[in-house]
Amino acid sequence: MQPTRIFSVLSMLLIAVLCSAQTSPSSTSLPKEIPSFDVTAIDKTIDPCVDFYQYACGTWMKNNPIPPDKTRWGRFDELQEHNIYIVRDLLTEAQAPGKHTAVETMVGAYYGSCMDESTIEKKGNAPLTSELERINGIKTKADLVRQVATMHRNFTPALFAFYPQPDMHDSTETIAFIDQGGITLLDRDYYLKDDPKSVETRQNYLEHVQKLFELAGDKPEVAAAEAKTVLAIETGLAQASMDRTLRRDPKSRDHKMTVAEIAAAAPNFDLTLYFAESGAPKFTSLNVSNPDFFKQVNDQLNTVPLEDWKVYLRWKTINEYAPLLTKAFVEEDFLFNGKYMSGQQEIEPRWKRCVKSTDMSLGMALGKLYVDRTFGPEGKERTLKMVQGIENAMRQDIGQLQWMSDTTKKKAYEKLDTIVNNIGYPDTWRDYSSVVIKPGDYAGNSVRAGAFEVQRQYKKIDRPTDRKDWSMTPPTVNAYYRAPMNDINFPAGILQPPFYSKLMDDAVNYGGIGVVIGHELTHGFDDQGRKFDAQGNFRDWWTAEDGKEFERRADCTAKEYSNFVSVKDDKGEVRLNGKLTLGENTADNGGLKLAYMALTNIIGNTPVKLIDGYTAAQRFFLAFGQVWCQNVTDQEARKRVLIDPHSPGRWRANGAVQNSAAFEQAFGCKTGQPMVAENACRAW
Ligand SMILES: [Zn+2]
Repeated sequence: MQPTRIFSVLSMLLIAVLCSAQTSPSSTSLPKEIPSFDVTAIDKTIDPCVDFYQYACGTWMKNNPIPPDKTRWGRFDELQEHNIYIVRDLLTEAQAPGKHTAVETMVGAYYGSCMDESTIEKKGNAPLTSELERINGIKTKADLVRQVATMHRNFTPALFAFYPQPDMHDSTETIAFIDQGGITLLDRDYYLKDDPKSVETRQNYLEHVQKLFELAGDKPEVAAAEAKTVLAIETGLAQASMDRTLRRDPKSRDHKMTVAEIAAAAPNFDLTLYFAESGAPKFTSLNVSNPDFFKQVNDQLNTVPLEDWKVYLRWKTINEYAPLLTKAFVEEDFLFNGKYMSGQQEIEPRWKRCVKSTDMSLGMALGKLYVDRTFGPEGKERTLKMVQGIENAMRQDIGQLQWMSDTTKKKAYEKLDTIVNNIGYPDTWRDYSSVVIKPGDYAGNSVRAGAFEVQRQYKKIDRPTDRKDWSMTPPTVNAYYRAPMNDINFPAGILQPPFYSKLMDDAVNYGGIGVVIGHELTHGFDDQGRKFDAQGNFRDWWTAEDGKEFERRADCTAKEYSNFVSVKDDKGEVRLNGKLTLGENTADNGGLKLAYMALTNIIGNTPVKLIDGYTAAQRFFLAFGQVWCQNVTDQEARKRVLIDPHSPGRWRANGAVQNSAAFEQAFGCKTGQPMVAENACRAW
């Protein structure tokens, strides 16, 4: 199970980047510090009780159009842009002549190889050729299995997924998981739906696959046929895949089996051989997240000719290498994935892509330099204090729940008390010294760093769970909760304005990072998290009656958000999927409530002086709303409705405040106004 994040970054890379209207995208100087509370963002012509998001963000949205090299531009993205400039400076210094630590030398050399476009052009298709030749040499089904194992070892996705995860019933042990996978478009729906937009997407995908095959050296008519083969195979894999919303229920993924059992269920694909070739330690049992997928793919392996599978594996390789190769490959990759799928008008400047690539490949080395530069021990301490305040608020909140029995409450306290807080960066830094980074070998460097990460992951299999291993790099502007670990994690990158500022009053900081902390904490108790106990095991700790009442409340939230419109354009109106976004919406509502309680515990009910004309409560809600100010392309918004478990900014703000009695009070909203829900939905 993936960690639950405060928001989704959909590119491969952890740091998304953006640029404000005041700074041109090609600017070389660090963008100014982002205000935590921005009065100039507010649109005072709007009534906050009618449309709070428009009130908090209206002027900001007008003044901050999406830069041409972005698909979304929001306050999160502003901060990510800020971080990317800091990281670029670190990388530039690491490359400059002079004395450097081993870590600096390594990240500098990696970044340098990415920036060295002339060598990349000179090498042409060479980095790809040996990979494609190996695939051309496949003669038997056993060769096919070996090739898939080799690709997985090199971090190239194909056919299915193989990775370690804590055992769902004994989280102290990490075991092997295999799961559905192998499609290239981001969701099975792209392959299976018949509405005009999905049909158009598949047509564009076919043309894109053909173009990349041509760049790899195939004749146009051959490449066109190959594209059709790829689409047919991936459609088969999509049909065998489970729907994203259904997968949110841990029960749907809980299937522990012996290697012999799954090998017997899918005899056409020799999984025993695959495991032996994978480079993972030997194991005898594993979790098969979607057994039906393997049964269906087993049939597909029989009906689809070996030659077609070779075409598919060549495609997966070319697609993975495209961003690492010449301008022609990079351009075609952008035209489909950036421009067509997401509405991005221009590709990002090379240096930004290279900063992101370095973060992706050597993020924990780069992260050390980032933390040394930006984040001291005092940052850790300040955040920890807020976390404790919000945990206390949750204890108080559980105590006050009318609908929950004392039996369930006791277990809920136990889970809350067990949550581990990870703040800023890991205790020990990852050792990358075995990764070979060569000047002038960008593709090789990226593949070797990927292979290192795969090996590092495989080594976790059948070992005690490593709870100290972070899932995000320190410069990342994000946060996450992990159910099997029962931990909340805040990378250094998010612990700054607009989320947290030393210069701001408590109301603003609690509306920013406070709500983020409350959000992650609530994930331990949302529709998914509540199914895991204090130790991180998938085990029901609720009385039957309390469980039912929670589900009723969750259903209220799911229905409420299903009415919210995300995109309305010439291709029609798209509403949110309330079931897919249920966990995040529950966390948004809970986070807002907990942070407000924690703030009240500090400042009490004594009237605090107005700042910028706003009370402390109003500043709290405005700071919260302004975290979500954003502009998004229609294409990106459409994509996110399908695959993103988070609601768009407008509904993250308006959805949560319309369920909040404290908000109603702060702005004097009246029953019947849009920001006062008729039936407020509330779990926590
Ligand atoms: Zn979340």
